Amino acid sequence: MTETASATLSLAPLLPLRSGLSSAGRLTLGGVDVRDLADEFGTPLYVYDVATLRAQCEGFLAAFRGAYPDCDVLYASKAFLNRPFARFIAAQGLGFDAVSGGEIEVLRAADVDLRTVYLHGNNKTPEELRLAVRAGLGRVVIDNEGEVTLLDGIAGEERKRQAVLVRVSPGIDAHTHEKTTTGIVDSKFGVPILTGAAERTVAAIASAANLDFRGLHMHLGSPIFETAPYVEAIEVVARFIAEVCRGRLGLEVTEFSPGGGFAVAYNDEQQDALQPIAEYAAVVAGTLRREADRLGFPLPHMTVEPGRAIVARAGVALYTVGARKEVPGIRTYVSVDGGMADNIRPAMYGARYRALAAERPRAPAEETVAIAGKYCESGDVLIQSVELPRLRAGELLAIPVAGAYQLAMESNYNLAYRAAVVMVEDGRARLIRRRQTAEDLVALDVG
Ligand SMILES: *Cc1c(COP(=O)(O)O)cnc(C)c1O
Repeated sequence: MTETASATLSLAPLLPLRSGLSSAGRLTLGGVDVRDLADEFGTPLYVYDVATLRAQCEGFLAAFRGAYPDCDVLYASKAFLNRPFARFIAAQGLGFDAVSGGEIEVLRAADVDLRTVYLHGNNKTPEELRLAVRAGLGRVVIDNEGEVTLLDGIAGEERKRQAVLVRVSPGIDAHTHEKTTTGIVDSKFGVPILTGAAERTVAAIASAANLDFRGLHMHLGSPIFETAPYVEAIEVVARFIAEVCRGRLGLEVTEFSPGGGFAVAYNDEQQDALQPIAEYAAVVAGTLRREADRLGFPLPHMTVEPGRAIVARAGVALYTVGARKEVPGIRTYVSVDGGMADNIRPAMYGARYRALAAERPRAPAEETVAIAGKYCESGDVLIQSVELPRLRAGELLAIPVAGAYQLAMESNYNLAYRAAVVMVEDGRARLIRRRQTAEDLVALDVG
C-alpha cells in the first residue's frame, strides 16, 4: 500500500514523484519498500524512480517544444549513464550529449541512434574525434581554434563531411559555484566572442573542406537558478550571429543551443529559489525570438541539453547506518556505508543535502548530527548538519536528489565496491547495474 508522498512526507518536494509509505510505515520508492530493496540488492543502493524520469523527459520536451516548436532535447550523458539507462532515455525521445569516447561507446553499445548524439569537450583527443566521425555522430561541437584543423583533417581521412557547431564563450557569469561556471571569459571551455577567437574559428570552419558549419552552442554552467544569465548570454550570441556570422562572414546560423544547467533543489532553501522548466523555456525561447526579430535573422533549430534536471530528483541513495561518534559539545557523527566514493559533491562543491530515516520517515527529529561517509578522508562527510530521529545501527538512511553527478563521479577510493543501481516502477525493481565484486577490483590488474 502506498499513499501519496505529499500528504505524509516532509521531504516530498525533494523525493521522486512515486514516493510513499508502506503499510509498515517505511518509505517506498516506485511502490517498493526500501527495506525490500536493501535486503535484495544491498546498500549503498541507488534507486531511480521511472515515473520521475519519464515526467522530466516529457516535461522538457513539452515545455521547450511548447515555447519553441523547432526544438530537440539532448540528455547530457555525463550526469549518469549506463547501457540500460541510455536505452530508457532514448525511448523517451531524447538525443544525447557526450563528452568522451567512453560515453560514445556506451551509447553505441545501447544501440542509440548516433545521429542524435553531439560530442562536446575542451580537449577531445584525435582518437575521440575519429570515433565521432566514423560512428556518424550528429554533431561535433568545436571548442577551440585548434580543433578546426584537427577535425577537418580527420574527417578528410575518413572521407566524410562532419556537421559542427561552435561552442562560444559569451563572457557571462551564471552566478553558480566557481567550479561549475563555464561561460565566463576566464574559462577553459568555449571560444571567446570578446577576444575575436570565435570569429576566427567560425571563419576557419567555413573554409574547411570537410566541415559543415551549422551553428552555435553555449553552456553557462550548472546549476543556474536564475534565468537572467540565459537572457544576457543569448543577447551576446544573437549579436554575434547577426554582426559576425551573417554580417561579416556571410554564413547562415541554422542551429543554436543554450546548453543545460537547469537547476534542481537539493534542500529546502533551494526549493524556494527553483524555477519551473516552463520558465526557462519561456525565457530562452522568448529571448531568442525577440533577438532574431530585432536583428533580422531566421529562427535556428534549437537543442537544449539538460542533464541534472532530468535525473537528479529521480534518484535516491540508500545507505545502512553504522557507527556513531559523539564529540561532546561539538558534533555527533553518524556514519553510513557509503560516502565520497559514491557522492563526491559535498566535498567538491560544498553541496548541501537533506536526509530521511527511510524506515520511519514520519518519526520526529530528535537530534542534529553529521552524516559521515566510511572513507579515509576527514572531508568525507555527506551532510554537515541535519536533524533526524536518533538513528540506530542497521537502519536505512535515504538521501534524496541523488540521481545526477554522483555515480557519474564515483570512484573506487579505498577500493570501495561501486554501488548497485535499480530502476523502480509499479511496485517492481529492476537491477540495471550490479554491485562491484572482488573479482571486478582485480579485473584490470596485469600480473
Ligand atoms: C554538463 C553539460 C550539460 C548539462 O548540464 P546540466 O547542469 O546537467 O544540465 C549540457 N551541456 C554541456 C555542454 C555540458 O557540458
